[in-house]
Amino acid sequence: MNIDINHSLEIFLTVDYEIYFGRSLMTQEEILLAPTKELLESCSAINVPLTMFCDVNYIAKLQEWGDFSLVAKIEEQLCKAISMGHDVQLHIHPHWEFTTRDKDGSFHFADNHYLLGTRFTDTATRKMDITQAIAKGKDYLENLLKPVASSYNCCAYRAGGYGLQPYEGDMLAALIDNGIKIDSSVIPGYKMQSKVHMIDFSDLVGRSHNWYGPVDGLAAPAMQNSGLLEIPIATADLQQSQWNPWPEALTKVIQQMWYGGSPYQPRGEPVGWQVPPKTPIMQRAKLSWWALNAVLNAGEAKLEMYRDVGRMLAITLGHVQRETALNGVHRLAVIGHPKGMHTAHFKTLQDYVTQLRKRYKQSIRFLSMSELAGTL
Ligand SMILES: [Zn+2]
Repeated sequence: MNIDINHSLEIFLTVDYEIYFGRSLMTQEEILLAPTKELLESCSAINVPLTMFCDVNYIAKLQEWGDFSLVAKIEEQLCKAISMGHDVQLHIHPHWEFTTRDKDGSFHFADNHYLLGTRFTDTATRKMDITQAIAKGKDYLENLLKPVASSYNCCAYRAGGYGLQPYEGDMLAALIDNGIKIDSSVIPGYKMQSKVHMIDFSDLVGRSHNWYGPVDGLAAPAMQNSGLLEIPIATADLQQSQWNPWPEALTKVIQQMWYGGSPYQPRGEPVGWQVPPKTPIMQRAKLSWWALNAVLNAGEAKLEMYRDVGRMLAITLGHVQRETALNGVHRLAVIGHPKGMHTAHFKTLQDYVTQLRKRYKQSIRFLSMSELAGTL
């Protein structure tokens, strides 16, 4: 593998600390707390910091519902993460404010509540709504975490649903007003339009790691050291990357044939999605063939904490190849969701870090968002 020694690499291991928005199929301890604990320990074991983008509105909703013992456990985990040298930053899923829940663990909310900024059509109200949500989230995290580490600041943001759009100018202005220095919501090349998602980052390919301000939004970078620094979630076109799809493809085939799908018990359902039933034995060969082809034909992909280290390395290096370094440094984020992670994912993540350290030696650093913000 070729390594361009003219650039250095700064990698931010990040997760969205949140539950499933459709339906919970296990306790919140099993969905969120247990996998996060294992992930934090896995990162500490190899001496890399994890930045947890914490879904603060979920915690506010739990308080409203009177689930105080769960709130206490979540807050204890956030404080523990800080005391272990990890990082906790701001993630906003505004729909929680209006969410109701049923006895079967399912949640309900209106589609236009999903993204910050889309629930009000009036411009002034929308701007106020965005600013207040950010200020409230920042206050909550700082009140909780400053007693653990006095140097703690809420300095970085990831939009729920990656929804820095559609009102990116208003979003960037509100983040800057609240003293946020870093955004990590952009997935260069990604477009997602659904009943709840509204993002189009196709123009960001090649220039995603840069400064962005309220005047031009994401349309063009702002002046250096002004506005917000974007740390993109890395992406690559796997067809253009140095990737051997066969280990992952064959694993998928074996799992489909043996388990009839994922080997793991599902913990919950994302919004608009239901856990599919296990494939009956007779149909497993056909679905294996589809799974095989889906892997072999994989194109544009974002850098998630997968179970396959080959895919993670290929996306990282593919991203570095097509993006421009900023003053000689490529900064990129890996995203994970503890709610969907298992022991195999944590081992793969450790393997990923180890392999990159071997390849890049002194030219690679793994940092938290707070560590970077301290240098800006
Ligand atoms: Zn999220």
